[in-house]
Amino acid sequence: AARNGEDGVRGYVASMGQIFLRRFQLVTQFRQALDAGQIEVHYQPKVALPERRVVGAEALVRWSHPEYGRLSPDEFIPVVEATGMVDALTTFVMERVLVRVRAWLARGLRLSGAVNLSVRNLADESFPDRVAEALARHGIPPGLLTFELTESSVMADPERCLPVLRRLRALGVHLAVDDFGTGYSSLAYLRQLPVDEVKIDKSFVLGMGTDLGDMAVVRSIVELGHSLELKVVAEGVEDDAARDELVRMGCDTAQGYLISRPLSENRFEVWLQARTVR
Ligand code: C2E
Ligand code: CA
Ligand code: CA
Ligand code: CA
Repeated sequence: AARNGEDGVRGYVASMGQIFLRRFQLVTQFRQALDAGQIEVHYQPKVALPERRVVGAEALVRWSHPEYGRLSPDEFIPVVEATGMVDALTTFVMERVLVRVRAWLARGLRLSGAVNLSVRNLADESFPDRVAEALARHGIPPGLLTFELTESSVMADPERCLPVLRRLRALGVHLAVDDFGTGYSSLAYLRQLPVDEVKIDKSFVLGMGTDLGDMAVVRSIVELGHSLELKVVAEGVEDDAARDELVRMGCDTAQGYLISRPLSENRFEVWLQARTVR
């Protein structure tokens, strides 16, 4: 038994070593992955309830790694965030999104493009100026760019983040609180954040059908959001029952597998074409 125990420990140490090695590789390879076109931006539509009109799309990144295959952002974003490279990622995604928004506009579609921000962007005083420059260069009305930020990233350093958020908002860019309901001080802090939109975390939306507690959380977030004059978005809408319940609650916007999974740029364009043809 003692021997097994030792093997267990050795196995554990070995796998920790592998995890560490893999993280180290991801950090060192990310920059060249960006340049080599291994980082892809996928798009997931957001639709207005109840009429299902497409109002925008969220950009979600994937890494096609030559050795590890398709990596989920949940694996590499935290690693990239721990370094300065997340600036390059945000810029890359924002540039892609602005090109898409311009192309949609050219076809008469006013869709908002949503970009996820990391805590580093929010603490970066030069970020709002770079956003303003990019909007002007692409000729995009600021209201067609949305940034999604989590409450916990703001809470990490509110003194630094709040001025950046205020300046982004002053540009006319839309701000959304992501993963709402999972933070510590959600209710009290929402009032102080200069945001336009709150996104109910998908864990509550996914649980609505089976858990009355989740249903109650979703309903209270919709009510709270509306009482603060915010738009309320539900993510993780996977079935008709959830969609119908959100409509009854008065939720403004839905996003989730029921409407579409995140799609590659080309597949999203095909989806959009089919949805918006009159
Ligand atoms: P998020 O911003 O909360 O994005 C929503 C996640 O839910 C996405 O996972 C999406 O694919 C997934 N999802 C969408 N609809 C459904 C549904 O109906 N059911 C279920 N079960 N899941 C659904 P994904 O694409 O794996 O992204 C994970 C996280 O990675 C994102 O969470 C976001 O925090 C981060 N992320 C993605 N792209 C970027 C980026 O460009 N920059 C930064 N900083 N973070 C990013
Ligand atoms: Ca998001
Ligand atoms: Ca979310
Ligand atoms: Ca999330």
